Amino acid sequence: MSTIDGIVSCMDGYDPNALRVDLARAAILACLAPVDGIERVATRAALGRVLAQDIVPSINVPAHDNSAMDGYAVRAADLAAGGDTTLDEIGAALAGHAFAGRVGAGECVRVMTGAVMPAGADTVVIQEVVRSDGGRIVIPAGQKQGQNVRYAGEDLTAGTAVLTAGRPVRPSELGLMASLGMAEVSVRRRLRVAFFSTGDELASIGAPLAEGQVYDSNRYTLHGMLSRLGVEILDMGVVRDDPAALEAAFVSAARNADVIVTSGGVSVGEADFVRGLMAKLGEVLFWKIAMRPGRPMAFGRIGGAWLFGLPGNPVAVMVTFYQFVRDALMRLSGRADDFALPMLRVAAAEPLRKVPGRTEYQRGVLSRDAAGRYSVRLTGGQGSGVLRSMSEADCFIVLEHDRGKVAAGELVSVQLMEGLA
Ligand code: AMP
Ligand code: MG
Repeated sequence: MSTIDGIVSCMDGYDPNALRVDLARAAILACLAPVDGIERVATRAALGRVLAQDIVPSINVPAHDNSAMDGYAVRAADLAAGGDTTLDEIGAALAGHAFAGRVGAGECVRVMTGAVMPAGADTVVIQEVVRSDGGRIVIPAGQKQGQNVRYAGEDLTAGTAVLTAGRPVRPSELGLMASLGMAEVSVRRRLRVAFFSTGDELASIGAPLAEGQVYDSNRYTLHGMLSRLGVEILDMGVVRDDPAALEAAFVSAARNADVIVTSGGVSVGEADFVRGLMAKLGEVLFWKIAMRPGRPMAFGRIGGAWLFGLPGNPVAVMVTFYQFVRDALMRLSGRADDFALPMLRVAAAEPLRKVPGRTEYQRGVLSRDAAGRYSVRLTGGQGSGVLRSMSEADCFIVLEHDRGKVAAGELVSVQLMEGLA
């Protein structure tokens, strides 16, 4: 598809053999537009989905001025500036049970939190400061007009958009929509992502491991990462390093999914045959990204689907997924907010090896000292096949492209793994 050539040709200084991470990410995102498809779902079912409509309240929330505290609703004009004021208690208002009358001069109404403000009153005095004097209420000096009142429309104002299309629905948005009485909402359809592992050496779990084989773990990390993103997943198993089998898998995946994610088969030794096949089936770029782990990666289009050919090494799969595929899926799913993973700055607890000229994603563990200051150390062996380094980690230590080695105590950027989605 011409989109890809277009992106490549307009990327000044683009070098597919040493592509900077930031350029690769920008190139991918520039190619992608949200997939079509909107559906109406019950409010609850919208959790984790992407809004396909703006939310414009048709009512004020709260609908009425109401008391923010338990206490007495009074008229500020009645209160003496320099001393106590004694008022007649003429009734009560509870949440859901308004006071029917009107507060006149010298009167007050007992109010509970959430009760509609009685007509005539403009101020609430908390119950802890008043004195009761035989049915009359003594209010001390020092009250401010309007205190402890929540005004109609203070949370949400009728007619003013409160959420815009492209926002993800989190628990707070569910509550917000419910507070407007919305029973249904329009969301974008879920992305369909097909994935498979490639390699003649791969055995599937449950089967005995023959000489020279490794168990296919990438399909399980991919299953986990994709599931957490809330996409529809299509696990296509292991595909042998065989042109006919691979072609059949790509054709089927492209027919059934918006996105295809594969692992393995894109490193230099293997790329030639895959490259030929992909050239035949679609338009795919082979990149050597200036990063570690995760150097080789293919990106392109096969039929109607976007393809991410991730490296085979287990850590490289996860790193390239989080750094490229995750953001791509967000864009395709219609997310219009800033979905980039947050980057925090933390002191390195130990020196870190790093050479300038590539972005490194080392696996780290955060700890906190007695003063509450965080620092980060490595999880040990950082080989791109050492999945244990991921499992022991709670963050990526992101060492930027131009950075060299890091001394203990220097600040480094980290991305937290918990919440990675
Ligand atoms: P490749 O990119 O296909 O050359 O694979 C690079 C390394 O990753 C090799 O050591 C493979 O055995 C290993 N590998 C590839 N795919 C998987 C997988 N699905 N599960 C575990 N290891 C894999
Ligand atoms: Mg392979």
